[in-house]
Amino acid sequence: MTKKELIFLGPPACGKGTQTSRLAEYLNFPHVDTGSLLRAEIKNETEAGKEAKSYIDKGQLVPVELVTRIIKNRLSQKDCENGYILDGFPRSVEQAAELEKMNAEIDKDQDTKFIAVYFDIDTSILVERIVNRRSCPKCGEIYNLAFKAPKQEGICDKCGTELTQRKDDTREVAQSRFDTYNKETAPLVEYYTKKGSLKSIDANGTIDEVWERLLAVIK
Ligand code: AMP
Repeated sequence: MTKKELIFLGPPACGKGTQTSRLAEYLNFPHVDTGSLLRAEIKNETEAGKEAKSYIDKGQLVPVELVTRIIKNRLSQKDCENGYILDGFPRSVEQAAELEKMNAEIDKDQDTKFIAVYFDIDTSILVERIVNRRSCPKCGEIYNLAFKAPKQEGICDKCGTELTQRKDDTREVAQSRFDTYNKETAPLVEYYTKKGSLKSIDANGTIDEVWERLLAVIK
């Protein structure tokens, strides 16, 4: 059976998290989201979490060694053996090289298909999206006060937990996250185009419209 390795690129709040969570359920693949893994380390007050916090609070990338260690550990687990959805990694050309190394090590002679999906979006709308974003700390469901509000204010529709706002979802930190994206992550679009693995989708529009476009490219 061919293992499917799907990675996702796009600026902060482009809708990757919403779509990849849905895709993970649809394909029954684990959703490996580095931002959430790092936030869990912070919440659990681990050494990695303590180190990552200062970078995340400033909208910068956490050191490559730290994030690579966490991802390698996660992708080596049994539930990733038929495929995985990687959201938020790699975020630099250096991390892309690390991913290639770890895939080669983990997959050995396994037959694999690697696809990088790029969410192409009008970035002028994204800061408003970020400041209106709320999420459920328990089940991870993502809401937006402007276009996907919970039925009951401040409460998760799925599990009834009180919604929270990410500490880095402020106007100031968002700007710094965009700068980091443009400098470190945007070059990956060209990197994967050259390798012939990039599939670009129009990420403007409703959640369902983007979902249909996503399904069409991952088949
Ligand atoms: P996200 O939830 O994807 O928006 O990520 C939140 C923050 O976590 C980012 O602004 C970075 O500080 C950090 N982060 C997430 N993924 C990575 C990564 N692959 N490399 C370095 N830092 C990361």
